[in-house]
Amino acid sequence: MPAGPDPFAFRGVLVERFGADRVATAPEDRRLLSADASRRYSDCVAAVFPDREEDVVALVFAAKELGFSIVPRGAGTSPTGSAEAGPSQVVVDFSRMNRILDLSARDLVAIVEPGVLCGALQERCEKEGLFYPPDPASSRVSTLGGNVATGAGGLRAVKYGVTRDYVLGMRVVVGDGSVLDLGGRSLKSVVGYDLVRLFVGSEGTLGLTTRLTLKLLPKPPSAAAIEASFRDEAGAYRGADAILARGLLPRALEAMDGEISAIAARAVGLDLPAGVGSKLLVEVDGDEETCARDVDRVEAALVDAGAFETRRAVSPAERDILWRARRSVSSGVYRAYPAKTSEDFGVPRGSLAEAIAAMKEAGAKRGVKVLAYGHAGDANLHVNFVYDPADPTAKERVRDAVRAAADVCLAFGGTTSGEHGVGLKKLDAARRELDPAALRYMGGIKRLFDPAGIFNPKKAIPPT
Ligand SMILES: Cc1cc2nc3c(=O)[nH]c(=O)nc-3n(C[C@H](O)[C@H](O)[C@H](O)COP(=O)(O)OP(=O)(O)OC[C@H]3O[C@@H](n4cnc5c(N)ncnc54)[C@H](O)[C@@H]3O)c2cc1C
Repeated sequence: MPAGPDPFAFRGVLVERFGADRVATAPEDRRLLSADASRRYSDCVAAVFPDREEDVVALVFAAKELGFSIVPRGAGTSPTGSAEAGPSQVVVDFSRMNRILDLSARDLVAIVEPGVLCGALQERCEKEGLFYPPDPASSRVSTLGGNVATGAGGLRAVKYGVTRDYVLGMRVVVGDGSVLDLGGRSLKSVVGYDLVRLFVGSEGTLGLTTRLTLKLLPKPPSAAAIEASFRDEAGAYRGADAILARGLLPRALEAMDGEISAIAARAVGLDLPAGVGSKLLVEVDGDEETCARDVDRVEAALVDAGAFETRRAVSPAERDILWRARRSVSSGVYRAYPAKTSEDFGVPRGSLAEAIAAMKEAGAKRGVKVLAYGHAGDANLHVNFVYDPADPTAKERVRDAVRAAADVCLAFGGTTSGEHGVGLKKLDAARRELDPAALRYMGGIKRLFDPAGIFNPKKAIPPT
C-alpha cells in the first residue's frame, strides 16, 4: 500500500470517474458501509457500487494511481471484521452486480454475479427443479461473492459439503488490474494449479471476484425434519453420533444447548418442553419413501440416545418454522446478550461433546457464561461468550476464556474457524494455529497476486 494517501483528495476523483450515483460519500452511508456484523464501526473514505466488471478493473487502477486500498463487500454479514473498512480505505460494494446470468439444468451449473444473494439463487434453483446445497444460516441476506470469499459453510454441510465444493470457476480482478478467468463449467478438471480453491476463503485479500460459476444438483424430491429434546447438554451430540453410527446421513444435524433452544423457540412463538438441556434438529431428504423411512430410523436413534421428546415437521410450512427458529439464533442471542463474543470452533467429530464441555468449563473458571449451538454434523459449533458490559473486569475475563477455549480446540486437533474466517478478529488465533512455514508461503501468495497491498490489507493472514 503506497504510504500516506490524502483520505479526501480522491473522493472527488471517484465521483468524477464512476458518477455520483455509483459513489457514496455521505457520512451515514460511509459509517454503515464500513461496518460488518462484527459490530465495530469505522469510517471509510467512500463506497463505490460497480455495475460491471469494467468498473471493478477501473477501481483497481484508480487505487494504484491514487494510493488507497479497497475493501470488498457483499452484504456485510461477516462476524470477523473481514468486510470492515477503515479511514483511507474505499469500499467496493457488489450489491448492484446481482444478476443470475445463466442457470443450466443440462449442465447443472449457474453463472452469477457476486452480489446475488445466496437465498435468491436457492429459490430460483428450486423453481427449476435444481438445488444449490450450500446454506449458511445467513443465506437470505448474504451474497454468493461473500460466501465464496469466506468459504462459507452452513446447515447442510454434513451431507453436501460447503461453498468451496460448489465453485467450479470464477473471474477475478487481481492487483495488476488484469482479469483472471479461472476454472470453467465442466464438473471436473485437473488442469493446472487449482487457483479457484485458492481464491475460495481468501477473504477478498487476493482480488475482486466479478463472476462465479457454481455447481448445482437436481432438487431432492422431498425432505422431512425432526427435532429432539434432551435433558442434558451432551444429549444433542450423543443424538448426532447415534444417527451417523446407524449409517444414516441427514442433510442437517443442528445442535443447540438449553438456553439457545429457549431463545430460538421464543423467536418464532414455539412451545419449549420444560427442562430442556439440549436440542437436535435433523433434516433428511430424498424421495418420499426414503424420507418417511429415514425419519423413523432417525427418531429411533434419538430415543435410544436419550431424547425425552421428538417432534416431526414434514410439510414445508412445519419445516419452515423450525428452520426460521434456527436461523434466528444469532440475532436472538445478540438481543438477549448485547455484549458477546462469538467464535466458530471446529473440532474432530468424535471430540465434539468433550471439547464443548471443556470450553464451558474454561468459561466457568473465569466466571464467563458460554452458550453453544451449531453444526453438530460437521462438529463446527458457534461458541458464544456472553458478559455484562457494565462489569469492568468482564472483557478481560472473556478474552482469557476465549483464548483458553481456542487452546482446547487446538489441543483436540481442531480449528479456530470452521466457516467464518479470520478477518481482523482472529488474527492472533490464526497465528497460533498455522504452521509458521506455511504462513510465510501465504505471505508470498498475497504479494504475488496483490504486490501493492491494495486488497483488504492486514486481514485473514497474520503478518510474519
Ligand atoms: C445471522 C447470521 C448467520 C450466519 N450463519 C453462517 C453460517 O451458517 N455459515 C457461515 O459460513 N457463515 C455464517 N454467517 C457469516 C456470514 O454470513 C458469512 O461469512 C457470509 O459468507 C458473508 O457474506 P456477505 O455477503 O455478507 O459478505 P461480507 O460480510 O460483505 O464479506 C465477507 C468477506 O468476503 C469478501 N468479499 C465479499 N464480496 C467479495 C467479492 N466480490 N470479491 C472478493 N471478496 C469479496 C469481503 O471483503 C470479506 O472479506 C452468518 C452471519 C450472520 C449474521
